[in-house]
This record gives sequence, structure tokens and C-alpha cells, in this order.
Amino acid sequence: MNLIVANWKMNMLRAGARAYAEELGRRIGERELSVELSIAPPLTALDAVRDPRGRWSLAGQNVSSETEGAFTGEVSARQLADAGCRYVIVGHSERRRIFGEDGKVLAAKLAQVRSAGLTPIYCVGETQEERARNLSIATLTRQIETLAGDPPDRPLVLAYEPVWAIGTGNVATPGDCAAACRHLRSLLSNRRDLRLLYGGSVTPENAGAMQQSAGIDGFLIGGASLTVSSFAAIAGLA
Ligand code: PEP
Repeated sequence: MNLIVANWKMNMLRAGARAYAEELGRRIGERELSVELSIAPPLTALDAVRDPRGRWSLAGQNVSSETEGAFTGEVSARQLADAGCRYVIVGHSERRRIFGEDGKVLAAKLAQVRSAGLTPIYCVGETQEERARNLSIATLTRQIETLAGDPPDRPLVLAYEPVWAIGTGNVATPGDCAAACRHLRSLLSNRRDLRLLYGGSVTPENAGAMQQSAGIDGFLIGGASLTVSSFAAIAGLA
């Protein structure tokens, strides 16, 4: 089943999150969903977004590379699991670029996520500069090497998020996305349960074409996930 993930980043207060969850619940109503939904709110809003009926799951936006202890401001994978999360985003380009997270740190985070029984949403994608220098495939290959120690028999969600497409309005063409996804799938051909998402300026207007021709299993959505109407439209709930 396709997976549609909302990444709210550092947006939304609890009252807004509660209103969003109520409205999303109203839109879903009693219907049987044909896609799986997950929301990655700020930690402060996890409780406000939780659906008692389980129609969407919760995801963490980030996780510590450590298990527990004196790491002020960090949140462990076990704590995210305890708070009801099913997924954790690992390696988002904002974490790589702004917070300097490299392959070693991300591999440690992936191990923490697995030991807490959660599923990672591991993000990869080339920058504009790498793209201009024809290094897209090499970048993806290097970023996939971070998964070397990740058990291949466990479910994995991989998000292809070209950095130049995130929050810019420059969505990848379905052809570009399909080429990157083919490469990623070939690198991960040993995976039994792999879902490949696309992320980067997805909107209700471009989601359909992307979904049909790019061979993806859903979306990771930033900006367009902040309003329930556009998130619901991308999920086919309009
Ligand atoms: C993201 O940050 O993961 C993302 C895809 O953002 P946006 O949809 O705003 O480009």
C-alpha cells in the first residue's frame, strides 16, 4: 500500500495540530483508506495529532544516535516508540545540511531506530550543485552505503528527495524521478520490503502525474502537508 507522510518540520502549535487531526478524521470518516497515512509533527504535538482510531500513524522527524543518558535536548528511539510513533525520518537534507549529520551519525541513528522496533524513513537526494556536476547517481550511491548495516529483511521506507526540489516549487520531472528510483531500487534489490517515496515540492496539482509515471510508492510532503485540504487531496481524500 502506498504511504503518504506529512513532515510538518518546526511548524504548528498544539491547538492547530488538534484542529488538523479533527478535520483529517472528518474527511476520512468511515471510509476504508487505500493509502497509508503518517504524520510527523513536532514532538510537542505528537499527542495532539494521535488518532485514537489509528487511521494514521505518527512519525518522528529526528532521533538521537544514542540510546539514553546525558544528551540534553535529544530524543531517543525508544522514547519515540513509547510516544506511539511507528516511523522516524532519518537523514532529511535539513538534518544533513544544517546540523551536519553525516553517514556515520545516520548509520548510528538507523541502528537506534531498529533496536526500538521502529521503521526508518531514510532520505536521500542530490543537491543542485551535485546535479549540475552530473553527480546525482554517485551521491545516491554514497548515501545508500549508510544502509550497509541495516537488516535487509526489515521493512524500509526510502524517500528520494532531491535537495533542489525541497521547498522550492521546483518539482522533479516524473522522468528524472523514475531514473533516480530505478537506480535506488537496483542498489537495494536485496530488500524484501521496500517502499520508495518521492519528496520535493509535491502539491495536489503535480502528485497525480508523478505517482503515475515515476514508479514510486507514495510521497513525503513538507509545505503542502501543513494544510489538511492539500494533504488530503494528495492522499486522494478530496
Ligand atoms: C521535505 O521537507 O521533506 C519536503 C519534501 O518539503 P516540501 O514538500 O515543502 O518540498
